Amino acid sequence: MMYWISSSILLRETILEGYLTNISPLRIGSGREPPLGATVDLAVLRILYEGKLVPYIPGSSLKGVFRSQATAIAKSVGLDVCTGLSKETCMDLKKIRDPDLGEQKLGDYVDLKLRHGDSKNAMKSFWENACLMCKVFGSPGYAGKLYFSDAYPIDKDGTLLSIRLGTRTGIAIDRRTGAVMERALYTVEYVEPGARFRFNIRCKNLPNYVLGLIGVILRVSNQGQIRIGGFKTRGFGEVRIEDLKFRNKDAHQIDTRLRSLEDGVDSEVDLQDLVKIEEAWQVAEGDDVWKILEKLEEAWKVASSKGSSY
Ligand SMILES: [Zn+2]
Repeated sequence: MMYWISSSILLRETILEGYLTNISPLRIGSGREPPLGATVDLAVLRILYEGKLVPYIPGSSLKGVFRSQATAIAKSVGLDVCTGLSKETCMDLKKIRDPDLGEQKLGDYVDLKLRHGDSKNAMKSFWENACLMCKVFGSPGYAGKLYFSDAYPIDKDGTLLSIRLGTRTGIAIDRRTGAVMERALYTVEYVEPGARFRFNIRCKNLPNYVLGLIGVILRVSNQGQIRIGGFKTRGFGEVRIEDLKFRNKDAHQIDTRLRSLEDGVDSEVDLQDLVKIEEAWQVAEGDDVWKILEKLEEAWKVASSKGSSY
């Protein structure tokens, strides 16, 4: 049986790219809180790009946002999925009963099988026991099928776009007493609305229904329901998705169809009139991409209604 989770078989490659534009202040920090009572400036995270330090959104942050949203959506339709948090993945929590080895953690069992060169059974036990989120986004020892690039403020040619930064003053409160600390003011840096960050999501072997789930997340992000970065409760981090592009290539097939990659769960989707074929890639941009994602969302609805099969 051919599993789409396999890393040695290339069934499909899908690329979604475009711009994330913040319509409220955006703050991606280094994750450290200011020491209480200290006057510190909290700078936004920066990276060296062509000799300049520029604000950016790490791919790992975007992947984290997508995984937590996907998990919430999967749970809302009754799928049994893990949190994906450290020590709480299926590799940590699921148990395998082996006639010779006794009860083993899924992660240990997969590891053991791989070390003995039995990748067939390693993959089989992961396929049968790990949840959809671990298969798609990864689990300790398994990389997953989605790769998020860092999002830089650049155009499609890689030229830096202008970006405006602002600061706000915060007040450090003693969490124990609730009192304002002495010397408690600090400034927080953020990206002013209107910045454009170029993002790129590469998917390998993702079935149509999983692409549909990604489509749901992109759609609700674009409707302002998902925020990224810090200070979300103060209205920071609302984004829109612009100039979306879609590219897909299925192995051994050059037409407008996206074939089913999982019997009994996935469904075929025809992208006729929505894609052009360019060098064996199905290519679309703009509104057509949103229409493609709508079609894929149907495949997600069909598959998720069969939830018990996971
Ligand atoms: Zn899991």
